[in-house]
Amino acid sequence: DLVPVRRALLSVSDKVGLAAFARTLAASGVELVSTGGTSRAIAEAGLAVTDVADITGFPEIMDGRVKTLHPLVHGGLLGVRDDPGHTAAMETHGIRPFDLVVINLYPFEEVRFAGGDYPTTVENVDIGGPAMVRAAAKNHAYVAVLTEPADYARVLEALAGNAGGLPYRLRQELAAKAFARTAAYDAAISGWFAETLALDAPDYRAFGGRLAAEMRYGENPHQSAGFYRSGEKRHGVATARQVQGKQLSYNNINDTDAAFELAGEFDPARTAAVAIIKHANPCGVAEGADLKEAYLKALACDPVSAFGGIVALNRALDAEAAEEIVKTFTEVIIAPGANPEAEAVIAAKKNLRLLLTDGLPDPRAGGLAVKSVAGGLLVQSRDNAVIDDLDLKVVTRRAPDAREMADLRFAFRVAKHVKSNAIVYARDLATVGIGAGQMSRVDSSRIAARKALDAAEAKGLAEPLTKGSVVASDAFFPFADGLLAAVEAGATAVIQPGGSMRDDEVIAAADEHGIAMVVTGIRHFRH
Ligand code: 5GP
Repeated sequence: DLVPVRRALLSVSDKVGLAAFARTLAASGVELVSTGGTSRAIAEAGLAVTDVADITGFPEIMDGRVKTLHPLVHGGLLGVRDDPGHTAAMETHGIRPFDLVVINLYPFEEVRFAGGDYPTTVENVDIGGPAMVRAAAKNHAYVAVLTEPADYARVLEALAGNAGGLPYRLRQELAAKAFARTAAYDAAISGWFAETLALDAPDYRAFGGRLAAEMRYGENPHQSAGFYRSGEKRHGVATARQVQGKQLSYNNINDTDAAFELAGEFDPARTAAVAIIKHANPCGVAEGADLKEAYLKALACDPVSAFGGIVALNRALDAEAAEEIVKTFTEVIIAPGANPEAEAVIAAKKNLRLLLTDGLPDPRAGGLAVKSVAGGLLVQSRDNAVIDDLDLKVVTRRAPDAREMADLRFAFRVAKHVKSNAIVYARDLATVGIGAGQMSRVDSSRIAARKALDAAEAKGLAEPLTKGSVVASDAFFPFADGLLAAVEAGATAVIQPGGSMRDDEVIAAADEHGIAMVVTGIRHFRH
């Protein structure tokens, strides 16, 4: 079960912790073999080290593209020690086994993320490294493979506790990690190609990512959770920097993503916009003259649900907006920047998480959205349809007036980010009632209207804000009843994809009530 470690092969890009690790190995009598840069680093630490080139009798060539791809290396990694055929081959060809392999790969992900040019990024595709990692991991019955400095400590501890040997279970775990590493590495490479060449079809991408954070738990406390970064160069929750606050939870990350993607729908050059999210659905969204006004309008939609919500902004956070946001218990704020005065306001709330990015998510960006199903992954291109690009058609006798039209566009923009069935009432560029995630469109419509009624009651208004509002539906009305529910709530104009078998019936009902209706030709299901 224990494999004594006598000979180690080290070849690392990230040389953090290398000297100390190598020193401990050398002190326990382990022979060190290494590649160019790694070998120099080990020698500089004053340790004896053999160059791979001296073993293979072959120099590193082609700028390092070929350094360890040699039978004297790979035979030493792959040889099965108790197979007479293998041992005979090793003897015949002078192949000596490696018991420990320490490799971390060329920093492809870092170069990609830093926006390296095409040739530089391609040159950072490590070939020999993954080959050795996979060889050693396959042969874990005899070989232990380390793929990141974070594992040095546990391996040294195991060596110390096992008289210079490593137990089978540890070698198995390290092998599992090694294959996770090479899979994530190759996923990043294919992702870079797909991104660079604008290839959105699923067959160009493998899915994977690099573990960025382990969470205390998942959606519920009995579930484990991790956050993987795909390495895509997008402004969003995965690339934001956390300025302050507690560690993000699984639900925080999910909700923050939903919030910021919605905020990204609003061009900051045109308007200030704020989205407040709960359980991945917006509970208030608004445009305003500035962020403070937009926030207050968004909050007014459903202040009860906004408690403990996530707030996303489409412009850099300013102190005036920050002062308002901190009055309501908020889990996370995400914005494309913040000024120092705003940061000072937020700093007073120690637990409040502030995430900042260098820009907004691009709603028109391509790329793929992934969802897990039992035993597989379901993949589709992102819903990157944007209302501004759509050919809107008026289908009723009455056309919406300018104010209605602005609100209709606003409502449909928001509806894209509401779980289906989605119904969004809007007035003066603010949501006034949102119905989300119902199995029937009529129910979503009723719930949205009910929310508006509650908000009006809380504010002591005579009428709900849905009176004189407009309404957006993420998908067509299959029957006139959904539309009639909106009419009943007081909506005067409707925006929806159209395309139902009963469109005529729905249009006739709208005309009968003097409703103006616009169809988009695009559906925004979101499940
Ligand atoms: P060093 O700094 O020791 O010169 O290079 C270490 C890096 O080279 C490691 O990241 C390792 O994965 C990589 N590497 C080792 N052998 C080969 C090879 O044959 N080809 C390529 N492309 N990379 C290699």
